[in-house]
Amino acid sequence: MMIQTNQEIQESQKLILNLKKEKDVTILAHYYQTLEIQEIADYVGDSLGLSKIARDHTNTKNIIFAGVLFMAETASILNPGKRVLMPDKQAGCPLASFLDGNTVNTYKEKYPGVPAVVYINSTAETKAETDVVCTSSNAIKVIQGIQNEFKSNKVLFGPDENLADYVKQKTGINIINLPDEGFCYVHNVIKDLDVIKVKKEHPNALITVHPECKREVRELADHIGSTKGMYDYVKINTSKGNEFIIGTELGFVQRVQKDFPNNKIYPVNENFICRNMKLSTLEKIFNLLNNLNNDKHKVTVPDNIANKARISLEKMLKYS
Ligand code: SF4
Repeated sequence: MMIQTNQEIQESQKLILNLKKEKDVTILAHYYQTLEIQEIADYVGDSLGLSKIARDHTNTKNIIFAGVLFMAETASILNPGKRVLMPDKQAGCPLASFLDGNTVNTYKEKYPGVPAVVYINSTAETKAETDVVCTSSNAIKVIQGIQNEFKSNKVLFGPDENLADYVKQKTGINIINLPDEGFCYVHNVIKDLDVIKVKKEHPNALITVHPECKREVRELADHIGSTKGMYDYVKINTSKGNEFIIGTELGFVQRVQKDFPNNKIYPVNENFICRNMKLSTLEKIFNLLNNLNNDKHKVTVPDNIANKARISLEKMLKYS
């Protein structure tokens, strides 16, 4: 099935919606998916939000997760009784690839007694070797919580160096980057000059950016927030008729434009696209729905890793 024109998109969306109902499947889509995939999803959200939805609001045995691998792994870890499937298991996250479990253990040996915190954008194997996981919205609370628990004046944190810098800037906590370098190629490429240019064109617009952006970009923003945090920021301010400049992945910007049609929403740059997220397509979802029992799409986390990673995820919930 080649899908190219608007009419073909709509026809394939209809086919997918019928198949989804007939085969009793829930589709979860991250905000960075294309709008055409977001439109056929039962739920759209950020990675942790979607995992919680999978746990609390889905009755189907099969869940299709349109996102990247660490997200589907997290959904699988938090939902051991369900089959979590990906349209394309090659969709990994380059940020997560900066850090593996062995490196975490090497740093823990080098810094005994210092807690290791990892961003949710990491593999299940990495999460299993750390003391606690955090998201971009709860990073400050989680890091403060684990620091108190360990009574340590330092915290190991990775793999995103910009999020680490943001927490350091906000709290003054002595953070050791784990590993030395790690970033999201989509957010790290955003420059202060990109933001300044759009702001000149739209001087009344409020600027909101993701904490995975560099400090020079964050310093130009009126608001810094996680994906959900940015969404809520726009929602709270829509009544003032505001215009917004958004510094994050294009799929999210398009979603906000669709949900708030009476406001003017500008991307910092239309080229900020996560190619890995875009590996999921309507065509692949259609094919998956026709091959639900094929285990090549199933995301499996071995029990020994899932059990340890679940402890780090549950500790995050305790501190956030
Ligand atoms: S946007 Fe960045 S963090 Fe998110 S999946 Fe893509 S590379 Fe990973």
